[in-house]
Amino acid sequence: MEPVDRSTIWPYDEHGEPGRFYYSRYGSPTVAEAEARLGELDGGDALLYPSGSGATTALVLSVLEPGDTIALAAGCYFGTSVTFQALAKWGLRYVEFDQTGAPPDGVQLVWLEAPSNPFLTMPDLEAAASHAAPVVVDSTAATPVHLRPLEHGADFVLHSATKYLAGHDDALLGAVICRDPPAADELRAFRTRTGIVAAADAAWLLLRGLKTLDVRVRRQTETASELAERLRSHPKVQVVRYAGIGGLLSFDVVDGAAARRVETSTRLIVNATSLGGVTSVMESRYRWEGDRVPPGLLRLSAGLEDADALWSDLEAALKKA
Ligand code: PLP
Repeated sequence: MEPVDRSTIWPYDEHGEPGRFYYSRYGSPTVAEAEARLGELDGGDALLYPSGSGATTALVLSVLEPGDTIALAAGCYFGTSVTFQALAKWGLRYVEFDQTGAPPDGVQLVWLEAPSNPFLTMPDLEAAASHAAPVVVDSTAATPVHLRPLEHGADFVLHSATKYLAGHDDALLGAVICRDPPAADELRAFRTRTGIVAAADAAWLLLRGLKTLDVRVRRQTETASELAERLRSHPKVQVVRYAGIGGLLSFDVVDGAAARRVETSTRLIVNATSLGGVTSVMESRYRWEGDRVPPGLLRLSAGLEDADALWSDLEAALKKA
């Protein structure tokens, strides 16, 4: 692998003209290399941002005008609605809708999530593609291993690259992949002007993570499928949500107190937030999302540990439910 290039400046050529790279807010070699690789994976023109939420902010501020409304998939990552609420004073509005059906009329952007976190619904991509507004698919949990939304009519793919793409819980990054090169040029210009730029070190960690993305995600999918199946027949588990792809699932125990006992009783599965890393993590989402989720909902991100060992850990913890 190329070493990380942490420079912020590169010399002009012998005629005093800037070359491809000259100041890192405009572009830098390690970030550009990671973008090229990500663009190949999702089949479009990729831009990196300092976090998934940074990517969300940059995308909506660049694409929308004050007074515009976003149709947001209900039950998707709650932080996305928090970001939109923070932008309300700039005139941005959103309405929630059921992404398994068609988006409402009269909106300027459609925002889907595949699958939604933590409800694990899959969007109706065909219905969204026939909507007049541009379509964004947050494909963080599906990853390009399972879904390439641009091939299904989406205009933009968004990733919290912090999750599966980087994959080791040591890099905070976001990405937008565009179907149309002019749209990517506009986003790139907006990013340079606003300075919402990813760091070279994080981009290098992403490049390293992408080398193992396919094997990691396939293994995590196998493990999550296995755990979802076993959870479905566990007497203490009321409902299991799994989209059939990816390493993310959620399930409900009887109430919030039971969820708290279960999440604090695992030994192998770490009681922490986030998802998509090589280490399995599980948490009650009620602490963050409140009444938006059932109090007994636990979200589990399967890592690369042995599936039987993970099941033994879960089974022992569920005795406390
Ligand atoms: N989208 C999804 C589906 C997420 O799960 C998250 C983070 O949890 C984000 C976006 C935001 O990404 P970040 O935490 O990198 O800002």
